[in-house]
Amino acid sequence: MHPKNRYQGPHDFPGLCKIVPELAEFLITTPDDRISLDFTSPEAVRRLNQALLLRDYGLKFWDIPKGNLCPGVPGRLDYIHVIADLLTPPGGHKNKGKRPVTGIDIGTGASLIYPILGAREYGWSFLGTDVEDASLKVAGAIASFNPGLDKKVTLRKQHQRNQVFRGIIREGERYDFSMCNPPFFADEAGATSAAESKWDKLGQSTTTGHNFGGKANELWTPGGEPAFLRRMILESVEFKDQVTWFTTLVSKKGYLFSAKQLLEKAKVRHRKVIQMGKGGKIRRVLAWRF
Ligand code: SAH
Repeated sequence: MHPKNRYQGPHDFPGLCKIVPELAEFLITTPDDRISLDFTSPEAVRRLNQALLLRDYGLKFWDIPKGNLCPGVPGRLDYIHVIADLLTPPGGHKNKGKRPVTGIDIGTGASLIYPILGAREYGWSFLGTDVEDASLKVAGAIASFNPGLDKKVTLRKQHQRNQVFRGIIREGERYDFSMCNPPFFADEAGATSAAESKWDKLGQSTTTGHNFGGKANELWTPGGEPAFLRRMILESVEFKDQVTWFTTLVSKKGYLFSAKQLLEKAKVRHRKVIQMGKGGKIRRVLAWRF
Protein backbone atom coordinates (compact mmCIF):
# COMPACT_ATOMS: atom_id res chain seq x y z
CA MET A 1 0.00 0.00 0.00
CA HIS A 2 1.13 3.55 -0.73
CA PRO A 3 2.70 5.07 2.41
CA LYS A 4 0.19 7.94 2.28
CA ASN A 5 -2.79 5.59 2.13
CA ARG A 6 -4.87 6.13 5.26
CA TYR A 7 -6.07 2.51 5.33
CA GLN A 8 -2.85 0.79 6.44
CA GLY A 9 -4.30 -0.99 9.48
CA PRO A 10 -7.35 -3.22 9.98
CA HIS A 11 -10.79 -1.61 9.76
CA ASP A 12 -12.62 -0.64 12.94
CA PHE A 13 -15.72 -2.65 12.07
CA PRO A 14 -17.72 -1.93 15.26
CA GLY A 15 -17.15 1.82 14.71
CA LEU A 16 -18.08 1.57 11.02
CA CYS A 17 -21.30 -0.30 11.94
CA LYS A 18 -22.38 2.74 13.94
CA ILE A 19 -22.22 4.77 10.72
CA VAL A 20 -23.88 2.16 8.51
CA PRO A 21 -25.81 -0.29 10.73
CA GLU A 22 -26.53 -2.62 7.77
CA LEU A 23 -22.82 -3.49 7.72
CA ALA A 24 -23.33 -5.57 10.87
CA GLU A 25 -25.17 -8.23 8.87
CA PHE A 26 -21.93 -9.08 7.07
CA LEU A 27 -19.54 -9.30 9.99
CA ILE A 28 -17.85 -12.65 10.58
CA THR A 29 -15.50 -13.96 13.24
CA THR A 30 -12.22 -15.33 11.92
CA PRO A 31 -10.70 -18.58 13.28
CA ASP A 32 -8.29 -16.48 15.35
CA ASP A 33 -11.23 -14.63 16.88
CA ARG A 34 -11.01 -11.33 15.02
CA ILE A 35 -14.02 -9.48 13.68
CA SER A 36 -13.87 -9.27 9.90
CA LEU A 37 -16.18 -8.85 6.94
CA ASP A 38 -17.54 -11.36 4.43
CA PHE A 39 -15.55 -9.89 1.53
CA THR A 40 -17.02 -12.46 -0.88
CA SER A 41 -20.30 -10.55 -0.75
CA PRO A 42 -20.53 -7.48 -3.03
CA GLU A 43 -23.28 -6.17 -0.76
CA ALA A 44 -20.87 -6.28 2.20
CA VAL A 45 -18.20 -4.39 0.22
CA ARG A 46 -20.81 -1.84 -0.86
CA ARG A 47 -21.78 -1.20 2.75
CA LEU A 48 -18.14 -0.99 3.85
CA ASN A 49 -17.42 1.58 1.13
CA GLN A 50 -20.45 3.54 2.18
CA ALA A 51 -19.23 3.65 5.79
CA LEU A 52 -15.67 4.63 4.80
CA LEU A 53 -16.81 7.37 2.41
CA LEU A 54 -19.23 8.83 4.95
CA ARG A 55 -16.73 8.68 7.82
CA ASP A 56 -13.48 9.64 6.10
CA TYR A 57 -14.54 11.81 3.18
CA GLY A 58 -17.44 13.70 4.71
CA LEU A 59 -19.95 12.44 2.17
CA LYS A 60 -23.63 12.81 3.01
CA PHE A 61 -24.73 10.28 0.44
CA TRP A 62 -23.04 7.49 -1.49
CA ASP A 63 -24.67 4.44 -2.97
CA ILE A 64 -24.62 2.44 -6.17
CA PRO A 65 -27.30 0.17 -7.60
CA LYS A 66 -26.96 -3.48 -6.63
CA GLY A 67 -24.88 -5.25 -9.26
CA ASN A 68 -22.69 -2.29 -10.28
CA LEU A 69 -18.94 -2.68 -9.90
CA CYS A 70 -18.13 -2.19 -6.25
CA PRO A 71 -14.79 -0.49 -5.76
CA GLY A 72 -12.61 -1.29 -2.77
CA VAL A 73 -11.90 2.19 -1.45
CA PRO A 74 -8.41 1.48 -0.01
CA GLY A 75 -7.13 0.01 -3.30
CA ARG A 76 -8.60 2.84 -5.38
CA LEU A 77 -6.94 5.36 -3.08
CA ASP A 78 -3.48 4.00 -3.94
CA TYR A 79 -3.93 5.05 -7.59
CA ILE A 80 -4.84 8.60 -6.47
CA HIS A 81 -1.66 8.84 -4.42
CA VAL A 82 0.38 7.51 -7.36
CA ILE A 83 -0.97 10.36 -9.51
CA ALA A 84 -0.19 12.89 -6.79
CA ASP A 85 3.42 11.63 -6.85
CA LEU A 86 3.57 12.10 -10.63
CA LEU A 87 2.25 15.65 -10.35
CA THR A 88 4.56 16.55 -7.49
CA PRO A 89 8.01 15.20 -8.21
CA PRO A 90 10.41 15.09 -5.25
CA GLY A 91 11.81 18.52 -4.57
CA GLY A 92 8.94 20.72 -5.55
CA HIS A 93 5.39 21.30 -6.56
CA LYS A 94 5.32 22.08 -10.26
CA ASN A 95 1.82 23.36 -10.17
CA LYS A 96 2.37 25.83 -7.35
CA GLY A 97 0.57 29.07 -7.93
CA LYS A 98 -0.99 27.85 -11.14
CA ARG A 99 -4.60 26.96 -11.83
CA PRO A 100 -6.15 24.12 -9.78
CA VAL A 101 -5.30 20.55 -10.78
CA THR A 102 -7.83 18.99 -13.14
CA GLY A 103 -7.92 15.39 -14.33
CA ILE A 104 -9.98 13.07 -16.50
CA ASP A 105 -11.36 9.79 -15.17
CA ILE A 106 -12.10 7.51 -18.12
CA GLY A 107 -14.91 5.10 -17.18
CA THR A 108 -15.79 6.72 -13.88
CA GLY A 109 -18.63 4.25 -13.23
CA ALA A 110 -21.72 4.69 -11.08
CA SER A 111 -19.56 4.96 -7.97
CA LEU A 112 -17.65 8.08 -9.07
CA ILE A 113 -14.93 6.65 -6.87
CA TYR A 114 -11.79 8.28 -8.27
CA PRO A 115 -13.25 11.81 -8.51
CA ILE A 116 -14.52 11.52 -4.93
CA LEU A 117 -11.15 10.42 -3.59
CA GLY A 118 -9.13 12.86 -5.73
CA ALA A 119 -11.38 15.82 -4.86
CA ARG A 120 -11.44 15.08 -1.15
CA GLU A 121 -7.78 14.09 -0.69
CA TYR A 122 -6.19 16.71 -2.94
CA GLY A 123 -8.88 19.19 -4.01
CA TRP A 124 -8.60 18.16 -7.66
CA SER A 125 -11.37 18.74 -10.19
CA PHE A 126 -12.46 15.98 -12.54
CA LEU A 127 -14.03 15.32 -15.87
CA GLY A 128 -15.60 11.86 -15.54
CA THR A 129 -16.61 9.88 -18.62
CA ASP A 130 -18.60 6.71 -19.19
CA VAL A 131 -20.50 4.90 -21.92
CA GLU A 132 -23.35 3.83 -19.64
CA ASP A 133 -26.23 6.26 -19.16
CA ALA A 134 -27.33 4.52 -15.99
CA SER A 135 -23.88 4.83 -14.42
CA LEU A 136 -23.59 8.52 -15.35
CA LYS A 137 -26.98 9.17 -13.79
CA VAL A 138 -25.97 7.66 -10.46
CA ALA A 139 -22.55 9.35 -10.57
CA GLY A 140 -24.30 12.67 -11.21
CA ALA A 141 -26.62 12.10 -8.26
CA ILE A 142 -23.67 11.37 -5.96
CA ALA A 143 -21.93 14.57 -7.09
CA SER A 144 -25.00 16.73 -6.66
CA PHE A 145 -26.04 15.36 -3.25
CA ASN A 146 -22.64 16.04 -1.70
CA PRO A 147 -21.85 19.68 -0.97
CA GLY A 148 -18.61 20.75 -2.61
CA LEU A 149 -18.36 17.73 -4.86
CA ASP A 150 -20.77 19.10 -7.45
CA LYS A 151 -18.38 21.96 -8.15
CA LYS A 152 -15.46 19.58 -8.64
CA VAL A 153 -17.08 17.11 -11.02
CA THR A 154 -18.19 17.37 -14.64
CA LEU A 155 -19.56 14.30 -16.41
CA ARG A 156 -19.56 13.59 -20.13
CA LYS A 157 -20.93 10.63 -22.01
CA GLN A 158 -18.68 8.74 -24.38
CA HIS A 159 -20.97 7.73 -27.21
CA GLN A 160 -18.56 5.29 -28.83
CA ARG A 161 -17.45 2.30 -26.80
CA ASN A 162 -14.29 2.08 -28.92
CA GLN A 163 -13.18 5.66 -28.22
CA VAL A 164 -11.39 7.03 -25.19
CA PHE A 165 -10.55 10.76 -25.46
CA ARG A 166 -12.16 11.50 -28.81
CA GLY A 167 -15.54 13.12 -28.42
CA ILE A 168 -14.65 13.97 -24.80
CA ILE A 169 -11.79 16.49 -24.71
CA ARG A 170 -12.85 19.78 -26.27
CA GLU A 171 -10.81 22.36 -28.06
CA GLY A 172 -8.79 24.58 -25.77
CA GLU A 173 -9.21 22.38 -22.68
CA ARG A 174 -6.17 21.46 -20.58
CA TYR A 175 -5.85 18.61 -18.11
CA ASP A 176 -3.03 17.69 -15.75
CA PHE A 177 -3.68 13.98 -15.96
CA SER A 178 -5.98 11.25 -17.18
CA MET A 179 -6.64 8.05 -15.25
CA CYS A 180 -8.54 4.87 -16.01
CA ASN A 181 -9.55 1.56 -14.51
CA PRO A 182 -10.26 -0.08 -17.86
CA PRO A 183 -12.97 -2.56 -18.75
CA PHE A 184 -11.39 -6.02 -18.87
CA PHE A 185 -13.32 -8.38 -21.08
CA ALA A 186 -13.70 -8.70 -24.83
CA ASP A 187 -17.47 -9.20 -24.75
CA GLU A 188 -20.41 -9.47 -22.41
CA ALA A 189 -20.30 -13.25 -22.46
CA GLY A 190 -16.67 -13.18 -21.28
CA ALA A 191 -17.54 -10.88 -18.42
CA THR A 192 -20.38 -13.13 -17.34
CA SER A 193 -18.50 -16.41 -17.60
CA ALA A 194 -15.46 -15.04 -15.77
CA ALA A 195 -17.73 -14.03 -12.93
CA GLU A 196 -19.33 -17.45 -12.94
CA SER A 197 -16.04 -19.32 -12.89
CA LYS A 198 -14.95 -17.17 -9.97
CA TRP A 199 -18.08 -18.34 -8.17
CA ASP A 200 -17.20 -21.94 -9.03
CA LYS A 201 -13.70 -21.58 -7.65
CA LEU A 202 -15.11 -20.23 -4.44
CA GLY A 203 -17.27 -23.35 -4.20
CA GLN A 204 -20.53 -21.45 -4.45
CA SER A 205 -23.43 -23.52 -5.66
CA THR A 206 -25.15 -20.66 -7.41
CA THR A 207 -24.27 -18.44 -10.33
CA THR A 208 -26.93 -15.85 -9.70
CA GLY A 209 -24.55 -12.95 -9.32
CA HIS A 210 -21.05 -11.63 -9.80
CA ASN A 211 -19.23 -11.94 -6.53
CA PHE A 212 -17.04 -8.95 -7.37
CA GLY A 213 -20.06 -6.93 -8.34
CA GLY A 214 -20.08 -5.35 -11.75
CA LYS A 215 -22.70 -5.69 -14.40
CA ALA A 216 -21.45 -7.52 -17.47
CA ASN A 217 -21.86 -4.35 -19.56
CA GLU A 218 -19.53 -2.40 -17.27
CA LEU A 219 -16.78 -4.93 -17.66
CA TRP A 220 -16.45 -5.36 -21.39
CA THR A 221 -14.98 -3.41 -24.27
CA PRO A 222 -14.42 -4.54 -27.88
CA GLY A 223 -11.12 -6.46 -27.97
CA GLY A 224 -10.84 -6.50 -24.18
CA GLU A 225 -8.31 -4.60 -22.12
CA PRO A 226 -5.35 -4.90 -24.56
CA ALA A 227 -7.40 -3.25 -27.31
CA PHE A 228 -8.60 -0.55 -24.92
CA LEU A 229 -5.03 0.16 -23.87
CA ARG A 230 -3.96 0.36 -27.51
CA ARG A 231 -6.75 2.81 -28.37
CA MET A 232 -5.87 4.93 -25.37
CA ILE A 233 -2.22 5.16 -26.38
CA LEU A 234 -3.00 5.91 -30.04
CA GLU A 235 -5.56 8.58 -29.13
CA SER A 236 -3.24 10.12 -26.56
CA VAL A 237 -1.03 11.32 -29.43
CA GLU A 238 -3.90 13.45 -30.71
CA PHE A 239 -4.33 15.08 -27.30
CA LYS A 240 -0.69 15.34 -26.29
CA ASP A 241 -0.86 19.11 -25.97
CA GLN A 242 -3.98 18.99 -23.83
CA VAL A 243 -3.11 16.36 -21.20
CA THR A 244 0.16 16.30 -19.25
CA TRP A 245 0.26 12.79 -17.75
CA PHE A 246 -1.70 9.96 -19.32
CA THR A 247 -2.15 7.01 -16.94
CA THR A 248 -4.06 3.74 -16.76
CA LEU A 249 -4.23 0.61 -14.65
CA VAL A 250 -2.89 -2.46 -16.44
CA SER A 251 -4.25 -5.72 -15.06
CA LYS A 252 -1.73 -8.13 -16.61
CA LYS A 253 2.01 -7.68 -16.76
CA GLY A 254 1.98 -9.25 -20.22
CA TYR A 255 0.02 -6.31 -21.68
CA LEU A 256 2.90 -3.96 -20.92
CA PHE A 257 5.15 -5.29 -23.66
CA SER A 258 3.05 -4.18 -26.61
CA ALA A 259 2.05 -1.02 -24.75
CA LYS A 260 5.71 -0.05 -24.43
CA GLN A 261 6.27 -0.67 -28.13
CA LEU A 262 3.35 1.56 -29.00
CA LEU A 263 4.59 4.28 -26.67
CA GLU A 264 8.01 4.16 -28.28
CA LYS A 265 6.46 4.49 -31.71
CA ALA A 266 4.41 7.42 -30.45
CA LYS A 267 7.68 9.03 -29.31
CA VAL A 268 6.58 9.75 -25.77
CA ARG A 269 9.10 11.67 -23.71
CA HIS A 270 8.61 9.87 -20.38
CA ARG A 271 7.21 6.45 -19.58
CA LYS A 272 6.77 4.88 -16.16
CA VAL A 273 5.34 1.70 -14.68
CA ILE A 274 4.42 2.10 -11.04
CA GLN A 275 3.62 -1.00 -9.00
CA MET A 276 0.98 -0.91 -6.31
CA GLY A 277 0.08 -3.51 -3.70
CA LYS A 278 2.06 -6.64 -3.00
CA GLY A 279 1.94 -10.43 -3.15
CA GLY A 280 -0.90 -11.82 -5.24
CA LYS A 281 -2.59 -8.43 -5.48
CA ILE A 282 -0.03 -6.48 -7.47
CA ARG A 283 -1.46 -3.85 -9.78
CA ARG A 284 0.37 -1.58 -12.16
CA VAL A 285 -0.14 1.95 -13.32
CA LEU A 286 1.30 2.75 -16.73
CA ALA A 287 2.03 6.47 -17.10
CA TRP A 288 3.37 8.47 -20.05
CA ARG A 289 3.78 12.06 -21.17
CA PHE A 290 4.88 13.75 -24.34
N1 SAH B 1 -13.85 3.71 -12.31
C1 SAH B 1 -14.74 2.72 -11.74
C2 SAH B 1 -15.38 1.83 -12.83
C3 SAH B 1 -14.39 1.01 -13.63
S1 SAH B 1 -15.19 -0.23 -14.65
C4 SAH B 1 -13.99 1.89 -10.74
O1 SAH B 1 -12.75 1.92 -10.72
O2 SAH B 1 -14.62 1.17 -9.98
C5 SAH B 1 -14.91 0.40 -16.28
C6 SAH B 1 -15.89 1.51 -16.65
O3 SAH B 1 -15.57 1.94 -17.98
C7 SAH B 1 -17.35 1.10 -16.70
O4 SAH B 1 -18.09 2.03 -15.95
C8 SAH B 1 -17.71 1.14 -18.18
O5 SAH B 1 -19.07 1.47 -18.41
C9 SAH B 1 -16.77 2.20 -18.68
N2 SAH B 1 -16.41 2.21 -20.09
C10 SAH B 1 -16.33 1.19 -20.98
N3 SAH B 1 -15.91 1.63 -22.19
C11 SAH B 1 -15.68 2.97 -22.04
C12 SAH B 1 -15.23 4.01 -22.94
N4 SAH B 1 -14.88 3.76 -24.20
N5 SAH B 1 -15.14 5.27 -22.45
C13 SAH B 1 -15.47 5.55 -21.17
N6 SAH B 1 -15.90 4.60 -20.29
C14 SAH B 1 -16.01 3.34 -20.74
